Amino acid sequence: MSYFRTNVDAMASYVPGEQPPRGTQVIKLNSNENPYPPSPAALAALQNIDGEWLRRYPEPYGGQFRQAVSQVLGVPSDWIIVGNGSDELLSIVIRACAEPGGKIVYPMPTYVLYRTLTEMQAAEIIEIPYPEDYSLPLQALIEADGAVTFIASPNSPSGHVVPNDDLRKLANQLTGVLVIDEAYVDFADETALDLVQEYDNVIIIRTLSKGYSLAGLRLGFGIANPQLLSGLFKVKDSYNIDAIACIIGASAIIDQAYKNSCVAKIKASRNQLTQDLKKLGFRVWDSQANFLLVQPPQNNAEYLYQQLKAQQILIRYFKQPGLDDKLRITIGTEQQNQTLLTALTNI
Ligand SMILES: *Cc1c(COP(=O)(O)O)cnc(C)c1O
Repeated sequence: MSYFRTNVDAMASYVPGEQPPRGTQVIKLNSNENPYPPSPAALAALQNIDGEWLRRYPEPYGGQFRQAVSQVLGVPSDWIIVGNGSDELLSIVIRACAEPGGKIVYPMPTYVLYRTLTEMQAAEIIEIPYPEDYSLPLQALIEADGAVTFIASPNSPSGHVVPNDDLRKLANQLTGVLVIDEAYVDFADETALDLVQEYDNVIIIRTLSKGYSLAGLRLGFGIANPQLLSGLFKVKDSYNIDAIACIIGASAIIDQAYKNSCVAKIKASRNQLTQDLKKLGFRVWDSQANFLLVQPPQNNAEYLYQQLKAQQILIRYFKQPGLDDKLRITIGTEQQNQTLLTALTNI
């Protein structure tokens, strides 16, 4: 006997990256956080929060943050939905659009949470493998024709960007919703933002967790036409974003200059780390994100992961077919990257 729904009994829990308690001395390169602090403007906004903001319920649609996003992206604010992290928005899309038994489709490997969220909804999972070169398996995705199709671009853990031409063909052929998860767009050379104007079934999802150094705040947003958003608003919690997140997030996203300066440092480090790892014999995939997918020369990915962990350096190892010979390494500060390289050389 169980108290749970059949699909909940059957599903495995999502396994997040290790999040050690505050104060633990680790070099944390396992969750694709930004190694630099949040914008000084955001920290100042935090200092200025008074009790009145906490006493009252927050704005149900994150008004102040929505305004800021609208200003920065040049998109009307009624085209924007705000979420408690972009993870919540992914969940909202599935809850609003997929019947139990409906199809959720995505290319693999990708963000593991898509599977967990699908299982929660008792929807059908259709995973379509990426070929070796990570070109989009367009025909198979179109044929699967999900109620929701997820494309992460840049993708995790591969770091590749899906070309807009492919995304257009997909949006055009699908009868369901196309979610383009741009969690890492701040580190990429292109965005699919234009597609939301061209297709009524496309939603772009972004986050402040990576580019803006605010993973602890839990703030993400989606961009789509108001008609598509209207269904999503029906299933969200009334007060899904707290007042503090809204205020800090608005200050952070307005401060584009600061974000861009951090991103520039990370991109430079990404190039440097790519070269350095290649010199050590690693295969390194081209990345448009703030992490690298690498394959160690001696095919000992799990061993390296464990040895680094013993030295308080956390990176990500995925024990799953196609990835169990590879590692995903978040780009850290120059000094962190150097420490990692020294440790790898010694191992
Ligand atoms: C990190 C990540 C997210 C989640 O971001 P939050 O806003 O912190 O919930 C979503 N999608 C992908 C692909 C990610 O890597």
